[in-house]
Amino acid sequence: MNRKRMPFICGNWKMNKGQDETYNFIHDFLKKVKQVPHLKEREIGIAPVFTSLFIADSLLKHSEIKLCSQNVHWEDSGQFTGEIAAPMLKEFGVKYVIIGHSERRKFFGEKNDTVNMRLKASLKNNLPAILCVGETKEERESGRTKEVVKQQLLEGLKDVTKDDILNNLVIAYEPVWAIGTGLNATVEQAVEVHTFIRGLLSECFGNGAGDVVRILYGGSVKPDNIDGFMASEEIDGALVGGASLDIESFFRLVDFR
Ligand code: PEP
Repeated sequence: MNRKRMPFICGNWKMNKGQDETYNFIHDFLKKVKQVPHLKEREIGIAPVFTSLFIADSLLKHSEIKLCSQNVHWEDSGQFTGEIAAPMLKEFGVKYVIIGHSERRKFFGEKNDTVNMRLKASLKNNLPAILCVGETKEERESGRTKEVVKQQLLEGLKDVTKDDILNNLVIAYEPVWAIGTGLNATVEQAVEVHTFIRGLLSECFGNGAGDVVRILYGGSVKPDNIDGFMASEEIDGALVGGASLDIESFFRLVDFR
C-alpha cells in the first residue's frame, strides 16, 4: 500500500522492565530490526519506565528507533513530587511523550485540562506528543463515543498552535474497553472513530490537518490482528501495551504486512 503518512508502531511498556530487561530486549531487538531493510520506512518507538530511559537511550541513540516517555509534567522544574519535566526527558534522548493515557486518567486523576497543560509543556520544549483519547465501555454502549472523543480532543488541544498540530502531534485512539483486555475494536470501529477525528481536526485547525496528523489505534493489538488494522489507510500505526513486551511479538507488529 502506498501510504500518505509514515506508519508508527509504539510500544508502551507501562510499569514493566527494569534496566537489565530493558537492555537485553533493546539489544536483541535492534539486531533483528537491522536485518529487515523495509523497516526503515516505518517509525518505531519504545516507552520504558523512567528509570530505564538512560539504559534504553544508550542503545537507541545509535538507531532510528525513538525513545518515548509515558508522561511529562507541565512545569520545567519545581515542587511536584514524583513528576518529571520535559527538559529532563530531553536529556535522556526522549523523542516523543505519551500524554493522557487512559490509565493515567483512570488511576491518577488525569483530566482534559491537565492533559492540555502537559501537552503544551511538551510542545514548548520541542518534544512531539502522542495524545491518547478513547471512550469507556459505558460511554460506547450509551452511544457517546464521538461526543467523548471530541471533548478529549478539543480540551486536550486547546491553545495548541496549528503548526504544532501539523508537525508535532500524533493521536492515539484507544478505546478504554480494549486496553489490556484482549478485546480489540474491530477495524471498522477504529476506522469510524479515526475518520471522525480527521474531520474534527480539519474543521478546527484548517483544511489538511486531518490529512496530515497520524492517528494510531491502541487496544489489544497483537501479532494476529496487526495486519488487519494496518490494511486500512485510515490507521497509521499502533500504540501497543502487552504485545510490545515480548521481542518476537513486538517484532511481528513492526513487521506488519
Ligand atoms: C496501551 O497501553 O496503550 C495499550 C493499548 O495496551 P494493550 O496493547 O495491552 O491493550
